Amino acid sequence: MSHLSFRDTGGPVSLSVDYVVVGSGAGGATVAVSLARGGASVALVEAGPWRDPVDYPSSMYGAMRDMMDDWSTTLTRGRVFWPVVQASLVGGTTVINSAIVVRTPGDVFDLWQKEHGFGGDGLADRVWAKQDEVERELAVQPTGPASMGRSNELAIEAAARMGFEGHPIRRNVTDCLGRGQCLQGCTSERKRSLNLNYVPELITRGGTVLSCAPVSRVLFEGTRAVGVEGRFREPVSRRRGERFEVRARKAVVIAASATRTPILLMNSGVKHPALGGYFRAHPGVGVIGIYDDVVRMDVGATQGWASTAFRESHGFKIETLALPLELVASRLSGGGASLMQRIESFDRMAHWVIAVRAEAVGRVSKSWFGDDPVVHYSLGRRDMERFRDGVKFLARMHFAVGAKAIVSGVYGLPYTIGPDQLHLLDEAPLEPRAWTSILSHLFGGAVMGADPRRSVCDPMGRVRGYEGLIVADAAALPSTLGVNPQHTIMALAKIRADELFAA
Ligand SMILES: Cc1cc2nc3c(=O)[nH]c(=O)nc-3n(C[C@H](O)[C@H](O)[C@H](O)COP(=O)(O)OP(=O)(O)OC[C@H]3O[C@@H](n4cnc5c(N)ncnc54)[C@H](O)[C@@H]3O)c2cc1C
Ligand code: SF4
Repeated sequence: MSHLSFRDTGGPVSLSVDYVVVGSGAGGATVAVSLARGGASVALVEAGPWRDPVDYPSSMYGAMRDMMDDWSTTLTRGRVFWPVVQASLVGGTTVINSAIVVRTPGDVFDLWQKEHGFGGDGLADRVWAKQDEVERELAVQPTGPASMGRSNELAIEAAARMGFEGHPIRRNVTDCLGRGQCLQGCTSERKRSLNLNYVPELITRGGTVLSCAPVSRVLFEGTRAVGVEGRFREPVSRRRGERFEVRARKAVVIAASATRTPILLMNSGVKHPALGGYFRAHPGVGVIGIYDDVVRMDVGATQGWASTAFRESHGFKIETLALPLELVASRLSGGGASLMQRIESFDRMAHWVIAVRAEAVGRVSKSWFGDDPVVHYSLGRRDMERFRDGVKFLARMHFAVGAKAIVSGVYGLPYTIGPDQLHLLDEAPLEPRAWTSILSHLFGGAVMGADPRRSVCDPMGRVRGYEGLIVADAAALPSTLGVNPQHTIMALAKIRADELFAA
């Protein structure tokens, strides 16, 4: 059978394949289909459920319940409790992301070479060649005028007036209907998330997908990884089902995300001083502009316009980001009649964000019961200054195109700030607790590198000290990128598949 889930098993499941891949997101689905294209037998084992677009929830609450990892309850532990957002379903976080596709910047390879001892030897050219393939396979294209919507158009106008570079976002989306619903999954099937292409292709090529199947540990014979095991789990009640064991004749590939890959390796007995270490992120912070005229940010591509003009100089990337009403409501302070009054402005709001290339380095450890990640992460002063600079810049953008006020969401500042009060943002506190942020671009936890003491994996993603055990997801990335990560993760996953065939 090509797809096995909680309900399909009359008893324990036992499979034997060439390669087993754990996690079906950007890294896992890509490496699995690449191995299958090369003729290997592959099992893809995913903790979350299989959901067809028709079953995607329409509300944000439904998305948290049905699509997010642990209802999105993972929070940073440090100065603040910021949500660490990831999905858990077939297709991983590609199902709920904004489909932004950005090539790995050349300076990232220079950084990896300088600080992690790999990245030369033509890696950039190999990654970009794989990114050509991904772009063809997922029909990546710039957001067109028809699906821009007013919020994206306003950002374009702001950049033109302020004289800096920006661009329509290139996305793995075809004929976007501009329903602004990417974060709950695209029910219109316009977004080419990997559950709609690489995963079905894997099945067509004879591969097997196990869903609702959290792997509890990697199996070893001596130091060779020979398979994985776990028990099926009902996605809502979390009732445990039958056991499964997948034996891998050639290799076990782990792609369970930056937070869960290190936990799975720890639970499997892998020991390395850097395991769980070097966790990094692009924390995001947004500013709402309130306009006189109707904007309707929920009409148009969820994220249709971006600028990398300040990526190197200021350490942030600017993007538009349409939020659904329920998330906007959670950003507005007040209650009762005053909250209702503020919500009434929803139609006239545009929300733009910065993704900060933070210097902060955190750590992922096991929770008390050992199954869930604890993310230790705090921003230092320089990162908070990036937040402050970025928010001020977003406010200036809004005012450049006629916003009558902005909502910064920063504690200690007035609820709204007008064009003549911009100076107030200079005094925004540098205390992280005053800020509303989330982490959605995650890196590290089982990083690659040339130094055996600082890197769990060698530059080919092979876990040191073991044979046949590979990491092929965001966990292996040894640095932030300053751009959205899925394209880099997919390209490296394709390279990992080539290397496995060559081994
Ligand atoms: C809201 C949001 C928007 C984003 N937008 C963009 C964007 O527009 N462009 C972009 O480039 N990036 C975006 N990202 C980030 C991007 O989606 C991720 O960087 C990328 O998907 C990470 O790939 P991954 O393979 O490491 O993990 P994921 O894609 O998260 O996949 C990991 C999978 O492993 C599964 N898993 C975990 N543990 C186990 C286990 N023990 N057994 C079996 N399976 C397991 C999980 O359930 C999950 O499905 C966004 C992220 C979020 C949260
Ligand atoms: S904006 Fe809407 S139609 Fe376009 S890809 Fe996102 S969810 Fe789909």
